[in-house]
Amino acid sequence: PKFVYDFTEGNKDLKDLLGGKGANLAEMTNLGLPVPPGFTITTEACKTYLDSGEEPAALRDEVSAHLDALEAKMGKKLGQADDPLLVSVRSGAKFSMPGMMDTVLNIGLSDKSVQGLAKQAGDDRFAWDSYRRLIQMFGKTVLGVDGDLFEEALEAAKAAKKVAVDTELEAADLKKLVTKFKKIVKTEAGRDFPQDPREQMDLAIKAVFDSWNGERAKLYRRQERIPHDLGTAVNVCSMVFGNLGPDSGTGVAFTRDPASGHQGVYGDYLQNAQGEDVVAGIRNTVALAELEQIDKKSYDQLMQIMETLENHYLDLCDIEFTIERGQLWMLQTRVGKRTAGAAFRIATQLVDQGLIDEAEALQRVNGAQLAQLMFPRFDEEAKVEKVGRGIAASPGAAVGKAVFDSYTAVKWSRSGEKVILVRRETNPDDLDGMIAAEGILTSRGGKTSHAAVVARGMGKTCVCGAEELEVDTKRRRMTVPGGHVVEEGDVISIDGSSGKVYLGEVPVVPSPVVEYFEGRMHAGAEDADELVEAVHRIMAFADRKRRLRVRANADNAEDALRARRFGAQGIGLCRTEHMFLGDRRELVERLILADTEDEREESLKALLPLQKQDFVQLFESMDGLPVTVRLLDPPLHEFLPDITELSVRVALAESRQEPHENELRLLQAVHRLHEQNPMLGLRGVRLGLAIPGLFTMQVRAIAEAAAERKAAKGDPRAEIMIPLVGTVQELEIVREEADQVIAEVEAATGAKLKLSIGTMIELPRAALTAGQIAEAAEFFSFGTNDLTQTVWGFSRDDVEASFFTAYLEKGIFGVSPFETIDKDGVGSLVAAAAKAGRETRPDLKLGVCGEHGGDPESVHFFHEVGLDYVSCSPFRIPVARLEAGRAAS
Ligand code: PEP
Ligand code: MG
Repeated sequence: PKFVYDFTEGNKDLKDLLGGKGANLAEMTNLGLPVPPGFTITTEACKTYLDSGEEPAALRDEVSAHLDALEAKMGKKLGQADDPLLVSVRSGAKFSMPGMMDTVLNIGLSDKSVQGLAKQAGDDRFAWDSYRRLIQMFGKTVLGVDGDLFEEALEAAKAAKKVAVDTELEAADLKKLVTKFKKIVKTEAGRDFPQDPREQMDLAIKAVFDSWNGERAKLYRRQERIPHDLGTAVNVCSMVFGNLGPDSGTGVAFTRDPASGHQGVYGDYLQNAQGEDVVAGIRNTVALAELEQIDKKSYDQLMQIMETLENHYLDLCDIEFTIERGQLWMLQTRVGKRTAGAAFRIATQLVDQGLIDEAEALQRVNGAQLAQLMFPRFDEEAKVEKVGRGIAASPGAAVGKAVFDSYTAVKWSRSGEKVILVRRETNPDDLDGMIAAEGILTSRGGKTSHAAVVARGMGKTCVCGAEELEVDTKRRRMTVPGGHVVEEGDVISIDGSSGKVYLGEVPVVPSPVVEYFEGRMHAGAEDADELVEAVHRIMAFADRKRRLRVRANADNAEDALRARRFGAQGIGLCRTEHMFLGDRRELVERLILADTEDEREESLKALLPLQKQDFVQLFESMDGLPVTVRLLDPPLHEFLPDITELSVRVALAESRQEPHENELRLLQAVHRLHEQNPMLGLRGVRLGLAIPGLFTMQVRAIAEAAAERKAAKGDPRAEIMIPLVGTVQELEIVREEADQVIAEVEAATGAKLKLSIGTMIELPRAALTAGQIAEAAEFFSFGTNDLTQTVWGFSRDDVEASFFTAYLEKGIFGVSPFETIDKDGVGSLVAAAAKAGRETRPDLKLGVCGEHGGDPESVHFFHEVGLDYVSCSPFRIPVARLEAGRAAS
């Protein structure tokens, strides 16, 4: 292979091979822009070197050939004594890794050529300063000398001269400093600073290769999920100098404002300086616009180049440039990073300018950015004290007084206090408290723990699994690392986007994008309106493009109405167990524990009208759109009294010799029904088959509610969904009973109900026998939460807090499979089941209602495997709509 490309040979699409910087330098060169000549050594060369410990044999000759060509072009030789060519050796990987790898400038300077440079530049000070910088950079990055030693020597030189800044050192001082620096190199590295320019260059290239595997770089890649085997390219570029006097300088520029997206002149310029000086902040930069006064010719040329670049890249570009004695040079460009808001604005601006079309505009934004725009945020300027970090379970920024039980949460919030509900973990009993709280903080549990799922459903901020926090609910306090105790009533702040927990109140700013989706956005801040306008238009693009429909996971009219405002096209999952909490829990408890037929009948009779009323409201709020009602699917223990509490009660009563027959009976029943592994126990269809009348009561409630809505001239479109089915036989039995009940209701009311019956596919066996199951199901909804749990054998409530961190660190997965669908495993089962189901029943409707339904990457997968819809919590609906549009364009 070819290991070296001249800047004239590459182009922007060769980032894999030439790295981002190299590919874009080549692109600019070929656009005819003023790029200092140079060449790029490929990532392949780096990979070969890192794999074998040796540079590829052909590399040296190729570098020589390219160096010869460069020297011919520049009319001088590398390190030539009377007029040296100097080069920079810079790293440049495919993905930008700012400051993570090495760069050496001024290669080619030596004891001899420094004199030549001084003469050519007519500036002794400049030449010696350049040489001093070379030895410093080279010593540190190539020879591994402790950088502080150079800094200390520099400080000492300034102190000796009683000056404050580097620029006040004169040529003679710098010359002495060079001698000192060379001594440091000799002592520390055990060798002389190399005087041979080619040796300098070769060692620098190797050092850049090696820096790919530096600790800093490795850590950065892990955090940013950049693969470790890409390697870096090396750019060898002829030096230009911005520090040759007032007609020189260096700067950065953006073709648009990366914060707002506005077109204009954005950037900074520093006269008579090199790039590092800007970073070091020795002198203050001026706004780029001022360059017009300083050097009109270069300014005009730069403006023209910026326009060329935007029209060429069709996107915001950022640029580094240097002016050397009135001559403008481009040192780097790339498609620039931007804030989430600017991404939306820029995409629509580019459409308006006719530069990109709607499909391309959708590729310029993503769901993560939209989600970011939807959270209220903590004011980043605020001074805060972070005391812990858990799992970022449900985004947002919440501030309130810490309370440690639901009762207090409700009581305090009624009297107007904002509270954060702090628990070790939550259970359905905490629901009232969760609703009342601004946010939820737990010290146990992962992203699919009760707290996380319910909080996401409510769009409520949640941090879970913050294990450093010791939550003591009995004493109503929590101890944070370092021993500080947060008492009930102390104000804390939690950031559900980062998982961070703070003491005290961090100020919060609301999201204009949510105000817009909620229909509450009024003309206000100019900035916000523009953003909302852009979001509005991008959402319209997405809705036009997408094939996937988007439904909501919602269990009550309030959530359903919000979901509709957010663009939901129905409900994909109504979890009926959520309707049995609070006061009604006791009725369910009685039902489960019923000893006699009569007792059971009685509790079912009590539940029926309540259920029916729930459904009437739900169908009304989703009138004209499908509503998938899932029959009861709780892990049983959630509906039974706590076994420990009950035991204590019995023991107490016993010791006080009080009557406790009922408690004892209850305790025995709870013991009988106690499960070691409730998630795999008496749940879903199993419960429906074990407790006669339960599912038929629910089906009757659905049917009667639908009939009532019809009578009221509504358009109810209920779908009945059976959970946790493993075999078609289970479904057939439930179906038969359901059909009968529906027929009864139809006969009694005279309504034609057209209720469809389908199933969840959330067990491996269901997926594997999907062809059979489709015989009895009109639709499938993939329950990817349980499917992930059962396919991996990962307990969904436990693993994220226990070993997932280790798994993520070791790179076993880049992201939790409960968050983003595991395409190879769980996903392939979904694809196969969808295919088999449709073979049996070509018009089988297919959806997904696990948490993955609102996850950007997963939405693309569900689009690819041909599902009809995704269903997710109301707040994630805009994200799902956007990603479905992106997937289709
Ligand atoms: C699922 O398992 O993916 C699902 C949606 O059901 P639940 O989370 O209620 O078990
Ligand atoms: Mg499930």
